[in-house]
Amino acid sequence: MSTLNQITFLLFCVVFLNLSYSQNGKDQPKKSIVVIDPGHGGKDVGATTKTGIKEKDIALGIASKMLVLNNALFENPLMLFLTRYTDTLISLSDRTKLSKKLKADIFISIHCNQAINRTASGTEVFIHPKSEVQAEESAYLGFTIQKGLADILGIKIRGIKYGNFQVLRDNGDIGATVLLELGFLSQTNEAVYLSKEESQSAVALVILQSIIKFLGL
Ligand SMILES: [Zn+2]
Repeated sequence: MSTLNQITFLLFCVVFLNLSYSQNGKDQPKKSIVVIDPGHGGKDVGATTKTGIKEKDIALGIASKMLVLNNALFENPLMLFLTRYTDTLISLSDRTKLSKKLKADIFISIHCNQAINRTASGTEVFIHPKSEVQAEESAYLGFTIQKGLADILGIKIRGIKYGNFQVLRDNGDIGATVLLELGFLSQTNEAVYLSKEESQSAVALVILQSIIKFLGL
């Protein structure tokens, strides 16, 4: 075989092997790692509604529904982890251990708001201005989620703010990192809405869709 023929043959082998390798599904791109942090837990109940529904339970409800929906509706496009799967209290420093170890692409801490002004309503997103690139990515993720919640579920947007929260600050140089305040438990309509299982599923679905949109999947 001439040298030119040998090179052509080798190139053919490389292309053919590459194609068959992808066709076998072994060359799938790495799944994006997403860590969801349901705020509070255990003896730290967070905010409560007038009827006694606790922020820690709403946050865990939404995060758990995201896990189920990621498997059931979207064919598992994300590697989704929670910082807590049950009603337990995790220290703030432990909440970011997993995301740092896994070098997560996305970290979302889920909370509900409360205010003395009982008419205050809507979603707030907090990001940490640690590095310009991360702040930019985090702001874009936060914007995508807030817009989804407003467009699909009609929840008012209160904007994206800088917040020096430990879970944001501690997250090293992982990907987009946001803390979501999903509505006010001190406002009657939002408290009733966020307490319902079906609303929690709707919010979980919109957050998932927004993550998928953000990642361009
Ligand atoms: Zn909270």
